[in-house]
Amino acid sequence: MNGAIRDHILKSRYLQPGEKSFSDICSRVASAIGKDEAEREQFLHMMEDLLFLPNSPALMNAGTRNPQLSACFVIPVGPTIPEIFRALREGAIIQVNDGGTGYSFSEIPPCGTPIKEGGGISPGPVRIMEIFDTATRVIREGGRRRGANMGVLDIAHPDILSFITAKKEEGVLENFNISVMIPDRYMQALTEGSHDEILTIHPISGEVISVREVFSAIVEGIHRNGEPGVLFADTINAANPTPALGSMRATNPCGEEPLLPYESCILGSINLPLFLQNQSVAWDKLDEITRLAVRFLDNAIDQTTHPLPEIAEATRRTRKIGLGVMGLHDTLLLAGIPYDSEEARTFAEEVMGFITATAIDESKCCAAELGVFPAWEGSIWHEPIRNAALTTIAPTGTISLIAGVSPGIEPVYSFVSIRRHTAGREFEMIHPVFKRALDEEIARCGYTESAAEVKRREVIDHIRATGTLRNIDWLHHSFRRLYRSAGDISPDDHLRMQAAFQRHTHAAIAKTINLRSDTIMDEITHAIISAWTLGLKGVTCYRIGSRRDTVYRPHGCS
Ligand code: ADP
Repeated sequence: MNGAIRDHILKSRYLQPGEKSFSDICSRVASAIGKDEAEREQFLHMMEDLLFLPNSPALMNAGTRNPQLSACFVIPVGPTIPEIFRALREGAIIQVNDGGTGYSFSEIPPCGTPIKEGGGISPGPVRIMEIFDTATRVIREGGRRRGANMGVLDIAHPDILSFITAKKEEGVLENFNISVMIPDRYMQALTEGSHDEILTIHPISGEVISVREVFSAIVEGIHRNGEPGVLFADTINAANPTPALGSMRATNPCGEEPLLPYESCILGSINLPLFLQNQSVAWDKLDEITRLAVRFLDNAIDQTTHPLPEIAEATRRTRKIGLGVMGLHDTLLLAGIPYDSEEARTFAEEVMGFITATAIDESKCCAAELGVFPAWEGSIWHEPIRNAALTTIAPTGTISLIAGVSPGIEPVYSFVSIRRHTAGREFEMIHPVFKRALDEEIARCGYTESAAEVKRREVIDHIRATGTLRNIDWLHHSFRRLYRSAGDISPDDHLRMQAAFQRHTHAAIAKTINLRSDTIMDEITHAIISAWTLGLKGVTCYRIGSRRDTVYRPHGCS
């Protein structure tokens, strides 16, 4: 890990007055979350040793006067002007508390139609989102991080086409990720070729919108600049652990947490590479840390200040937690397994299957001690359990930098990258596992010391320029096979890895399906259909080079 980057991040965002080091942060967080001395000690070591890190708000705020610990929220937006502005107010409160919010704007009447209750003419979802976006920008100015929102619209909303194209121009709605919520019947229409079917007729313009048109707009949008994302309504709700409490119509900003209205979720990620011993997984250690992490996140629900009473009530009712992993690709590299291989997917299923099974077991132990989550009756759980949902895969955009590992379950975006920080400083980051392996590979080729230095620079400059090392012929083919980065991996292999994790994850997966810059529209349609067929809850694609802003940022967050 480049220590300078970590120091910079800690200093600019995480250190509280009087704190000097990462250990100070861990002590503050452990003291706030642990229930007794023994637990505090265990939590401290787990974080100090970088085996597990909670999401940023927990690192920033635990043990302060305002311990808001949660990264993920979903706020309902009603159809009337007072309800819309109530959601705006609630979102603002969450933002000043460092959370990210998802909203479904589907109940807002189509643009130009009368609002039934309370009067007025509806500006439509897109204009309303512009207000939310401006509010976020103003609120976050000068803050520790820019804001993050998710805007969701049901595919059958009459304003769907203007929603899909709302982010056509770069810089518009920049604090929003947008996603279209699609029920199975429209995916079936797409796959069966019956998508000339009429989806909706706009009540004001009279415009007749077919399923085909909407999918074309989605695919064009993704091709243009990676938006909108797609969410699969029926897959999400088939996995709803508390169907009696209603359905899930939105997710948090990066998509890993479909939630009920007013629910929030605190995330935490296990740092996988540290569980590799002699190229195999240290299962006992993984068992221990998974159990501790469940306790940590469950305690945190009672330690956090919920920004609104409705959030306190909804969150405590289901006690969802979001335990996941980071550093998957680094782990695979250390084990010598190419990301886009069957072996990698088997590894992924084994590890995530183990984490989820262990987390469930620990949550059952917690229930025996502390009681079940209040909405347990009528939930999908037959045996007493403390948390309605336990696992997720977060992007880990910042905490993976603190841990010095590859983010979440993403393949490394580039083995050499440049990070620019607000202060104008630039860092050349060379992936540490890659750096060591490259030195070994150059030594294997038998270059003299000075020639080796030239060769090393040649590789690094080549990657800086092209993002890949696949064309450097003198590197052994097995080396090139292993060190494939995000753009070298086929969309199908990206999707298959996401599916391997989804099979063992309660909530959803934050992942970007990277597409080559010459990807054509049909390949994007194919990726959306595959994602649905594979049982994913949603899919986010990005065609490499399709945004001016080339610095990689997971799903619009920072
Ligand atoms: P981190 O690594 O900082 O803990 P992640 O990149 O894993 O965070 O993102 C997890 C979730 O945190 C996101 O899905 C989103 O809900 C929230 N989040 C991320 N970045 C921001 C931000 N800049 N402002 C508000 N919320 C954010």
